Amino acid sequence: MHPRSEYISTAHLVPDPNAVRLRKPPWIRVKAPTSEGYRRTKDLVQALDLRTVCEEAACPNIGECWSQGHATMMVLGDICTRKCAFCNVATGRPQAVDPGEPQRLADAVAALGLTHVVITSVDRDDLADGGARHFAACIKALRATCPGVTVEVLTPDFQRKAGAVEMIAEAAPDVFNHNLETVPRLYRTVRRAADYAHSLNLFPRVRALNSRIFTKSGLMVGLGETNREVLTVMDDMRAHDIDFLTIGQYLQPTLGHHPVERFVSPDEFAELEAAARDRGFLLVSASPLTRSSYHADKDFRRLQAARRARTHAPGQSGEVDRSHGQPSRANV
Ligand code: SF4
Repeated sequence: MHPRSEYISTAHLVPDPNAVRLRKPPWIRVKAPTSEGYRRTKDLVQALDLRTVCEEAACPNIGECWSQGHATMMVLGDICTRKCAFCNVATGRPQAVDPGEPQRLADAVAALGLTHVVITSVDRDDLADGGARHFAACIKALRATCPGVTVEVLTPDFQRKAGAVEMIAEAAPDVFNHNLETVPRLYRTVRRAADYAHSLNLFPRVRALNSRIFTKSGLMVGLGETNREVLTVMDDMRAHDIDFLTIGQYLQPTLGHHPVERFVSPDEFAELEAAARDRGFLLVSASPLTRSSYHADKDFRRLQAARRARTHAPGQSGEVDRSHGQPSRANV
């Protein structure tokens, strides 16, 4: 493999010399990770030469999640083909696809004893299928090595690559997750290479191909959006068959990234969560430290329970749910 540094571009990360960095409020601060479980997860990820979005995105929840072995695996390398203004993952020319990665990933999930795993990736606009085939290979390896483990994929938008969505739906993950990230007005500055309508339309396409897959999406707040715009995105999500919405506070990775325009208070998150529930999502998670993979295992069980409750509500059809785990408290 070539040295990583030859392939990385940082030209888009120019700090604004006049920018004022807001001080983090107390509800954002987290303790440095020190637990035995954290160390074990770190050692295993390193030993199997895997990448995690927990590290690449400098996630504030890493101490809590890794102490329980909950790492979100990032496949297809650690160099992204896009330059999103919010994201800490390196940009440049990505590495070749590693055909051994799906099995190493499955071995890690088995060693960590996970019951639910989230797999994500960098954007791979350089690949003919956007990386969809590799996601499918990961799901296949997990099904063979860790039967009973439920699988959530957090994918790129695949840039209209022919057959990509079909490959994902056919591989039948339990959850299809694609983050809209922000309101459409901010796409040009925050999520430059993406298209809001295209991202939204992925969900009904997946649902039409496999109606049993749960659909999930996430938003960051604090980037300069208005509450009215967030509510409109919620309406768009419900109109595009999204079951589960996560909302969390945007944090600026470096001074060259998009600034935090404001810190949204826990009370405002509670109001957003209530507004989303009123719109009929099966599940909503909204808090300053919510990330799309935060507590994904517990939330998946809640999602199953919520679908069962809704399916068996008076006047609903009796669709059978493919449940792998134990039902938990329905968050609806
Ligand atoms: S919230 Fe997700 S990305 Fe952050 S540490 Fe937990 S599993 Fe990793």
